[in-house]
This record gives sequence, C-alpha cells and structure tokens, in this order.
Amino acid sequence: MSRLLWQAVTDKDALFGDQGWDAVVVISDQFELSDYPEIRQLMQHARSVDQRLGREPVLLLAPGLAGGRLICAPTGDLSGDYEDVRRFAEAAQAGIGMAVRAGAERPLLLVDEPQGDMRYSRAAEVALLGAGHELYRPFDVAPLNITVGVYGLEDASRANALEYGRIAARDLCGGDPEQMAPPAFAQYCVDLFEDSAVKVSVIDDRATLDKEYPLLSGVARASYGVERHEPRVVRLEYVGAGAISRNWMLAGKGVTFDTGGADLKIGGAMAGMSRDKGGAAATAGLMATLAQLQPKGVRVIAELGLVRNSIGREAIVPDEIISGHSGKKVRIGNTDAEGRLVLADLLSHLRADAKQHDDAVLMSLATLTGHVVRSYGPYSAVVENAVARGQALGGELQAISELWGEPFELSRLRREDFAQVAARSPSEDLLSSNNGASVNISRGHQFPMAFLLQAAGLDEHQLGSDKPLPYLHLDIAGSAVEKRDPLYGKPTAVPIATLLAKLLDH
Ligand SMILES: [Zn+2]
Repeated sequence: MSRLLWQAVTDKDALFGDQGWDAVVVISDQFELSDYPEIRQLMQHARSVDQRLGREPVLLLAPGLAGGRLICAPTGDLSGDYEDVRRFAEAAQAGIGMAVRAGAERPLLLVDEPQGDMRYSRAAEVALLGAGHELYRPFDVAPLNITVGVYGLEDASRANALEYGRIAARDLCGGDPEQMAPPAFAQYCVDLFEDSAVKVSVIDDRATLDKEYPLLSGVARASYGVERHEPRVVRLEYVGAGAISRNWMLAGKGVTFDTGGADLKIGGAMAGMSRDKGGAAATAGLMATLAQLQPKGVRVIAELGLVRNSIGREAIVPDEIISGHSGKKVRIGNTDAEGRLVLADLLSHLRADAKQHDDAVLMSLATLTGHVVRSYGPYSAVVENAVARGQALGGELQAISELWGEPFELSRLRREDFAQVAARSPSEDLLSSNNGASVNISRGHQFPMAFLLQAAGLDEHQLGSDKPLPYLHLDIAGSAVEKRDPLYGKPTAVPIATLLAKLLDH
C-alpha cells in the first residue's frame, strides 16, 4: 500500500521523449487539443480510417509518442444541462483499463479539462478517482504493478493520499464475511495506522461493550462465543498541527455481515451483506488519507462499530427493550434495522467529544437503508438535523459532492419522521423501526435520523439548547459499491473525496 500510484509530470517532453512512460492516455470531450498539435494531427489522420475516434476509447499506433501508443478516451459531449463531472471518471476508467489490457505499466495520463464550466472544475482530480477505481485490485489477489504519470499535475501528494485511503476503504468494505469479520477489520486498522499520525484504539472486551455500547452489543449478541465474529469498537483520532479550527466526529457503521438477525433476510436478500460495512470502511479510509496528508488545523475523531448481525439462540428479537448508552430505552422493531442501533451508541460517545468544542460537527456514515437505494438509485443521501440545516452544512456537502463526482441528494427530516419512532407504550422511549423492510416504508431513509438523534441523546443539543450540535447523517447504501450490486460490485470508497474537500475547504 505504500507504493505511490500517481506521479506528477510537468515536462512536456515526457509525452514524446523516452522518459520511461509506455503509453499516452488522453481524456477529452472534443479532442481539439490546441496545446498538443502533434496529438491532434495524429488523431485527425486516424479518424479518416476509424470513425470510433472521439466516440469510444480507441488505441492508436503513435510512433512519436511515449511508448508508441496513444489511447483516446472520450468523455462524450459535456454541454448538456444534465451532464456532470462523472464523465471524466468514466472516461479515465475506460482509458486506463484499455492501457493496462494493452500491456502498459507506466501510462501517462493527460486530462483535457473544459474551461469556464464550474461543473468540471475538478475534472482532472475526478479522472484520477476513476482511474484509481479501475486499477484497484482486492487485497487477496496480486496487485497491478502500475505507476501512472499525470501530465500537468504539479504535486501528486493529495491524489496519492486520497487513493491510499480509498484503497483501504475498498479493502475493508470488500472483504468477505470471514476475511473482514470484526476482529480482522479492527486488526487491519491497527496495522494500517501503526506509527502513523492517527491514534488507534480497540475495545474488544464484552463487559465494556455491554456497558458502554449496549445497543451495539445487543446486535452482536448472537455472535458472542464465536471468537472470530465477536464485535469491536475502533476509535481513531487525528489532531493536526497548529490551532484547531475544525472538529469532526464521525461514526461509521461496520456491520461485517448482516443476516438480518431474527428478522432473517430471505429469498436471496442476504447475499452481498458483507458490504454492510461500507460506512466504517469509508470512515477508516478518510482517516488513512489524513494520516498521509497530515493537514493542519483539523481534529477528526472517528468511532467504528464493527458487528456481525448473526442469527442464533442468543439473537435479539423484536419487542425487546434495550437501554442505549444515552440512557434511552429502545424497543426493537425489526432486528434487520441494526445499523441505527450500532450508530446510536457510537454517536452518544462522540457527543461527549463534540460538547468539548465550539465548532464540532457530528456525522454518521452508513449503508443504512434499502429505501435510499429505492429513492435515489446510485446516489447517496445526506440528512441534516436542524442545527446543521441552520448552518447549510448539508447543502454545502451536496455542492462539493457534485464537483467531486460523488453526488449526494439532500433529504429533509420532517416531523412525521419522529412519529414513526415514537414510543408505543410507557416501557420504552423509542421504537427502532416498524417491523418491515425500510424499502417498503415511506420515508424509510429519512426517519432513521429521527431515531438516531434521540437514541444518541442529540435531542438535548437542538437549536435553542445550551449547546446546539450540528449533525449530518450520510446514507451510502446505494453508492458504496458500483452498479448497486452489493455482491459483486467493486467498492467505490465514496464519499472520501467529498469529505476531504469539505474538511480542507478545497
Ligand atoms: Zn440490516
């Protein structure tokens, strides 16, 4: 993982001379390439015999260029009202994929960015995200031996730090139920952050988990006794140098396998549920990027709840009441709505951290609901509490996500959402959900936020309280793996690029 994928190249001779690059990959919409007349001329000649040029990725024999080959990967027409920057990721993915299949090991990437259209202001970076996605191989197969030169890039450190974190996130999200069971996931984090700028600690003791994370431990109940499946809470802390101007507290859902529990997933719906840890994986990935970049002035604390939602004679069942870390008594509505239980205890702990700072922002990252996939397809959702909404934090995150090709939809929490989780009897304070799959419940990805707010004790930090705390819930169930295929889709590492850009303000 320490090998650098991207190398900055500013010398124009690299495109033509013999500097070790073995292919040139050009990403462009029109291929006008006025700064590169040699490449344009080559393309014009080639187009007379192959009209695919500019329409689909094509490899040309190019004796004058590095490696003697040119791959033209078109974005397509970018002018349409509904186009967005993901065209660059897709083109780079196709172009780099073709280079690798053609045998290149040191391709040189040239991204022809459109001028003057704000939608494409991060086009070059987004192209790298797409190329990185293409080049990723799971940790249990041999990695590609590739270094990509990025022509026109002055400094590759951010791109490399980002890809470092994205690789970790993909490894953690993609590992099978045994490879990345909670203890293995935790160990991966311990190894990843060893001697780094991120401090890592792991809670593995049942008595502590029962006391400090009782809802999480409830979800894990049927997994106790199978040592390799037992739960873990991983806490990660990064404190940048200098005066701290930004404090983030992140909770990541890491359900390493979700059988649904006693409300068992049936009819084939269980396959792919090893990817129900994408929130914790992306959170760990962001921390890995911070460990590499070491930005000044920011503090980020993350807690990852790593649990296997197993079925067995100890499994929690609907109707049970469990008191969370916040003290709220939660009646279980459906054992397959386990992610919110895990997050509630993490957030309750992070609330204590957030209270110590003036400008803290809380977030949860989770593959939480089937409903978000039903609502938005491959897009993520951000749901704000009123404090975050007052500061327009969700809207800002959404705007940034568009530029980085990881688009979010902004969902609004409403008063009806609180009614969905309101106590039905004097014995409980809250209901975790009704007894149905979120996908079939109206407002199925919004109302869990009403649960999370209250179960984590964040209802004590509303607007008008002594200590209002902004909180954003990010549901990435539709975006954590590509093609919305949880079983075989490659993990995307969404939304690390967006969060990094938001954290650093650029
Ligand atoms: Zn579930």
